[in-house]
Amino acid sequence: MLYHDILVVGGGLTGLRAAVGLCDHYNVGLVSKVYPVRSHSIAAQGGINAALTNNPESKDDSWEKHTFDTIKGSDYLGDQNAIEIMCKEAIKIVYEMEHWGCPFSRFPDGTIAQRPFGGAGYPRTCYSADLTGHSLLNTLYERAVAKGVKIYPEWFVAALCVEDGQCHGIIAQDTHTGAYVPVSAKCTFFGTGGYGRVYQHSTNALINTGSGIGMAYKAGVPLKDMEFVQFHPTSLIGTNILMTEGCRGEGGYLINNKGERFMKNYVPHFMELAPRDIVSRSIQTEINEGRGFEHPLGKYIQLDLRHLGKEKILDRLPGIRHICIDFIGIDPILEPIPIMPSQHYSMGGIDVNERAASEAKGFYAGGECSCVSVHGANRLGGNSLLETIVFGKLAAKAILEDLEKQDLKPNEKALLALKDSVMKKIHRLTQPGGERPYTITTELGEVMNDKVGIFRTKSELAEALEKVIELKDRYKNVSVSSAVLHMNYELQSAIELEFMLDCAHAITLGALLREESRGAHYRLDFAKRDDESWLKHTIARIGPDGDPVISYKDVVITRYQPMERKY
Ligand SMILES: Cc1cc2nc3c(=O)[nH]c(=O)nc-3n(C[C@H](O)[C@H](O)[C@H](O)COP(=O)(O)OP(=O)(O)OC[C@H]3O[C@@H](n4cnc5c(N)ncnc54)[C@H](O)[C@@H]3O)c2cc1C
Repeated sequence: MLYHDILVVGGGLTGLRAAVGLCDHYNVGLVSKVYPVRSHSIAAQGGINAALTNNPESKDDSWEKHTFDTIKGSDYLGDQNAIEIMCKEAIKIVYEMEHWGCPFSRFPDGTIAQRPFGGAGYPRTCYSADLTGHSLLNTLYERAVAKGVKIYPEWFVAALCVEDGQCHGIIAQDTHTGAYVPVSAKCTFFGTGGYGRVYQHSTNALINTGSGIGMAYKAGVPLKDMEFVQFHPTSLIGTNILMTEGCRGEGGYLINNKGERFMKNYVPHFMELAPRDIVSRSIQTEINEGRGFEHPLGKYIQLDLRHLGKEKILDRLPGIRHICIDFIGIDPILEPIPIMPSQHYSMGGIDVNERAASEAKGFYAGGECSCVSVHGANRLGGNSLLETIVFGKLAAKAILEDLEKQDLKPNEKALLALKDSVMKKIHRLTQPGGERPYTITTELGEVMNDKVGIFRTKSELAEALEKVIELKDRYKNVSVSSAVLHMNYELQSAIELEFMLDCAHAITLGALLREESRGAHYRLDFAKRDDESWLKHTIARIGPDGDPVISYKDVVITRYQPMERKY
């Protein structure tokens, strides 16, 4: 058994920021299934929002306006107290990251540069060219290492231990030796990222399986608003690699096969910079109605950057250009980029409050695996990097306060019993003769893509639910091809598949029950938002048979009464 006062799971921006805030006071361990700088945060391109007013066009911006844009963007499902806190903190944490060495792009006067992003009233997205996540993550990683955070890289967490309403730690595997180790902690913090890979077409890294979300659910911690899944308008055809919203922020056009900037027919005022849910639906409508382009890899729309000119593309979007050249042989200086929408972000997640605390004593979560909720039904671009650092910081503060008040005693017996059940599961998964896990993963991705996508209907959601339940049943008979424990990624994937299926179940059931359209959840059979019946969070809690039991919870409204969401 290993012992830490505080255990952080996740080496992305959220986990690292929490660890940096805690390690001066307590013995902190940070576990990550990949080297921290390979976390998905590294892939973030476009930027991080803060009302700094550096852009000449954003002189009148303020954290209050950022708050309002975020609430409106969330289609009024975001908790307004938490959004206020995030937007106020934004200014502090961007300067903090600057002072810790993050190389932001600059305006000629030396101030941090800001570009326009979707759904924002002012240009308030701070960036490092199109490598913002890379710059932020390396800055925080260096700080965590310099401060002596004990890091366990390539350690995979297989289970979370919650008993009698309190969290006692985790069961983790050192993937190099194969050993499974109980890790005892007074407080455990999850910054384990999103579940993008539950979908076949996703901009997310292969590691984004949502296993932290599934693990918390299995341990009895409720999930919130899982049916709200963000589809990014612009992913590169065939690969689904993200073409950052920064492309449109810098002035890129979306063009259909008639040569039209079709966004004028949907959101004439905001055009390409409408929020993501609206732009994705518009692109999908163009494709569905025959105004897309044909390609062996699928139907697409063009993202045209050519008019920005070579100099601007090389300066602001160098990574995008390289990706296009390397993956499909297209240079965006000379040709439009073929794009299609694909899954991008998990609005829902582990139910926590504005202190990042869950209902289980000693268990906290932040970043994309959590649902505070600051994004509600639709996240604005640039608000997720913001959420990771703000709630990593605030979680550290909350944990310090809570440990000051109460010295929690982890229950070692509960941890050892959990380890036994993990070992039993591994024994079962390594028996020969069962179905191979990848067939289930593939079918899961397909059904989520086809039936729980941008446009949803009752009959398709019901079919998807049936399929997910069938796959859960087939999962009971899954086995991997090698019983070796160390560096066995097939076995790791098989363990994670169970958590993916739980995430998919909660997403699909929540979507089937929510008979309205709000933000990214669009029901063709209930096309209007219905505040009277549905201005509430969906809570999914594991039931006695392992299936989710759904209940609802009020949205926190402070100053902004729900209005029709017009752009
Ligand atoms: C391509 C792309 C571009 C993006 N661009 C932007 C942008 O410009 N602006 C913006 O605001 N947002 C952007 N986002 C969203 C944003 O980057 C993410 O939401 C955010 O970085 C998530 O950070 P995180 O700390 O929550 O998790 P992640 O960075 O995903 O890290 C998760 C960590 O958890 C660990 N982990 C997970 N499961 C386990 C396990 N079972 N055992 C051990 N460790 C585990 C992983 O090893 C990893 O270290 C983008 C997302 C993508 C996919």
